[in-house]
Amino acid sequence: MARYVYDFTEGGRDMADLLGGKGSNLAEMTRLGLPVPPGFTLTTEACRVFLSTGSEPAGLGEELAAHLSAVEGAAGRLLGQPDNPLLLSVRSGARFSMPGMMETILDIGLNDESVLGLAKVSGSDRFAWDSYRRLVQMFGSTVMGVDPAQFERALILLKDVRGVPDDVHLDAGDLAQLVDTYKGLIHVETGEHFPQAPAEQLRRSVLAVFKSWNGERARLYRRREHIPDDLGTAVNVQRMVFGNLGPDSGSGVAFTRNPATGEPGLYGDYLPNAQGEDVVAGIRNTMPLTDLERLDPRSYARLRAHTRTLERHYRDLCDIEFTIEHGRLWMLQTRIGKRTAEAAFAIAAELADEGLITPDESLARVSGDGLAQLMFPRFDTSATGAPLAHGLPASPGAAVGAVVFHSPDAVRRATAGEKVVLVRQETTPDDLPGMIAAQAVLTSRGGKTSHAAVVARGMGKVCVCGAEELAVDVETGHFTAPDGTVVEEGAVISVDGSAGAVYAGAVPLADSEVMRFLESGPDDETAGDTGGEPTGDVHAKAPWLIGAVDRALTRADAVRRLEVRANADTPEDAARARRFGAQGIGLCRTEHMFLGERRKLVEEMILARSDAERDRALAALLPLQRQDFAGILKAMDGLPVTIRLLDPPLHEFLPDRTDLSVRIATAEARGGLPTANDVDLLAAVNRMHEENPMLGLRGVRLGLVIPGLVAMQARAIGEAVAERTRAGGAPRAEIMVPLVGDVRELRIVRRAVKQVLDEVSSTAGVPVTCPVGTMIELPRAALTAGRIAEAAEFFSFGTNDLTQTTWGFSRDDVEAEFFSTYLDKGVFPASPFETLDRDGVGRLIRIGVAEGRAARPDLKIGVCGEHGGDPGSVHFFHTVGLDYVSCSPFRVPVARLEAGRAALEATDVSDSR
Ligand code: PEP
Ligand code: MG
Repeated sequence: MARYVYDFTEGGRDMADLLGGKGSNLAEMTRLGLPVPPGFTLTTEACRVFLSTGSEPAGLGEELAAHLSAVEGAAGRLLGQPDNPLLLSVRSGARFSMPGMMETILDIGLNDESVLGLAKVSGSDRFAWDSYRRLVQMFGSTVMGVDPAQFERALILLKDVRGVPDDVHLDAGDLAQLVDTYKGLIHVETGEHFPQAPAEQLRRSVLAVFKSWNGERARLYRRREHIPDDLGTAVNVQRMVFGNLGPDSGSGVAFTRNPATGEPGLYGDYLPNAQGEDVVAGIRNTMPLTDLERLDPRSYARLRAHTRTLERHYRDLCDIEFTIEHGRLWMLQTRIGKRTAEAAFAIAAELADEGLITPDESLARVSGDGLAQLMFPRFDTSATGAPLAHGLPASPGAAVGAVVFHSPDAVRRATAGEKVVLVRQETTPDDLPGMIAAQAVLTSRGGKTSHAAVVARGMGKVCVCGAEELAVDVETGHFTAPDGTVVEEGAVISVDGSAGAVYAGAVPLADSEVMRFLESGPDDETAGDTGGEPTGDVHAKAPWLIGAVDRALTRADAVRRLEVRANADTPEDAARARRFGAQGIGLCRTEHMFLGERRKLVEEMILARSDAERDRALAALLPLQRQDFAGILKAMDGLPVTIRLLDPPLHEFLPDRTDLSVRIATAEARGGLPTANDVDLLAAVNRMHEENPMLGLRGVRLGLVIPGLVAMQARAIGEAVAERTRAGGAPRAEIMVPLVGDVRELRIVRRAVKQVLDEVSSTAGVPVTCPVGTMIELPRAALTAGRIAEAAEFFSFGTNDLTQTTWGFSRDDVEAEFFSTYLDKGVFPASPFETLDRDGVGRLIRIGVAEGRAARPDLKIGVCGEHGGDPGSVHFFHTVGLDYVSCSPFRVPVARLEAGRAALEATDVSDSR
């Protein structure tokens, strides 16, 4: 029979699928001998059975009772025992952390009798009644479904009647009265009484937490974080320990290193005389953990020792929740801590230095997405006035947006295309949709481990929290800065999550130091030391951060098998790509060279009435193209440059049909004659008009239909190669034919190209040899790759068109039109134009690679669609054995890093996260 409950002494961190993250780590800490209050975990499997059948799994009740007995035995008292009650907490704990997204119920075991027992043994009536009213409130809302606002209202009313500002001023009698009011509320709302039987409280709480897996907040969070919906949550039942028993008690959150910057040393928040929930809720302002050293040196020393044990054991940044009960330290939770991109790089480098992890593991701990974040600009505050206010730099980055005070407003305005900043006193999990929609989150209360901070960091969203100087009034929709400035809803502010500053208006942006370093090129040894003038605390650390980024990239370059090239069409872009570490150009789109002043020549080519006219236009284009190619080949000297023959439909180079018609009609309406050129142009535009130009006369088809076009481009490339060779360079041009669907198309173009190259070679007197290859961007090309490879010296997958033609999705239309619906309905977790669709498009790529290589074993194969710079897709391209990825110059460092990580993954370097 299936087993659904495990004692903390029975589990371990390798059982996270079954016991969830929290449960498996509690078990691990228990095994390490750390002081963990005893308890047990109900498995994710139990949750899945419950959610799919709607009823408790068979045997769960008995197992629960047996484990409860064991905890009672160890404690020497019973759950809810009237004279000295054992109390329990019931908390969710999924495989992947979902902070605050599911339910928690504390103080289970209290009832009308045991509250008196608790009062006696704790020596505090107030504490006992406060615990009881918390239970009734949490149980009433979470288990029995009463609107939590009802309890809040009753609490506010009582405070008003007593004339006290907050809960701590209510005495035991007040709280006892509140319990009565809450119980009455529950009865009126549900027709049921608050259950007095402790076992029933426990059982119903467990099931309510299972149910909360499918709550709205939890579902939204999972969609965003790409956590599968069918995992279910485990539930942890644990003996309560109390941080609110007086000044020698308290609760805190600790990180073994600073999760924002990576700086070593214990870091966190502490709140004396408080429960853990009070720390995270951000309702009361916490003190830095270092103050605990003064307050309770013994507990602090123990905490330090335990956190060291944990970091050495997990070999990573750990995030810890603890409680001190009458001077005794209890460890309530640990997990691998979420961190900013900056901290991820810094910590990975430090842990490797400390010998805790290998250089390969260090590389596995950072990500291309994180690197991309570090490459974003930050605020240039040199010309800006003083900040409106300071808060805690909870999640780095720079964001500008209009102030909104409510989550639904943030969603509404962001959906309409506006950039917004969500401003609150503190956030709760209900604010999640608004946090996702906003550019940044700003709160006036709460520490760096408050809900706002933790969730924003997890999302990579800019966040400043605990900006106490701001008086935030969400009801009337404004906040007031210490200098008296009033900022109304809708006003634009700038939030600097790295420095913890808030500015009025839109502050301009400046390049990041990491970007400057990367742009300075891989060979510039001094770049790391001169990473720009420090402009503040955070940026002063830039050289250190740059060192960490450099190390990760160097390691990635050493282990990766995939080469990384760039998509670039100008010498400037080519040079930049090279500085970013590109090993060539994987796609030089020639259509961008047909724009601007040259459009006239293209028009002449299209309108030519005779071969001679067309040849004249082509002859005029030739030197211009040659010059383009020579510049790029020079910038990429010694490295391959894949030049693609013209791809888009030619009418893209002609004036707009409607504009032309209007111009002609206007001229006629004025009684004049339209110009002959306009009339010719309109006729050509009408002749060439296509309903679906992306599937029309483009790519290789142009080369077959327009005489002389391929020859002109091939000549320009050949002559540029000859010119560079004569100048002592090492040009390595490759000629790529777009949108091939059949080998015969390629053969025709290839023959024309080779003939021209031979001519150029003999005229110039230098060898001009350029491999000729093709893009694979139509399903038919992938499916007949074996035949195509007979005529192709290389393949480059054009995954933009391949995605378009495999799905039948118009690249230009569908993303705006209906992708949000598809994403909402879970058809795909991300746009297939961003992250490669492995099952469909990926399958075609596999076929193309296998059949291409079978026909021509030395076939060089790359990819040049947008996916070449997407981290997830890079891993796929590594797996299927491509030789290189090509992406925009700015994504080159990201692709280098991910190609390295992909190589490690393939050799199974375990990422301990
Ligand atoms: C592609 O289709 O993936 C590609 C790189 O070509 P383009 O985007 O220019 O069509
Ligand atoms: Mg294409």
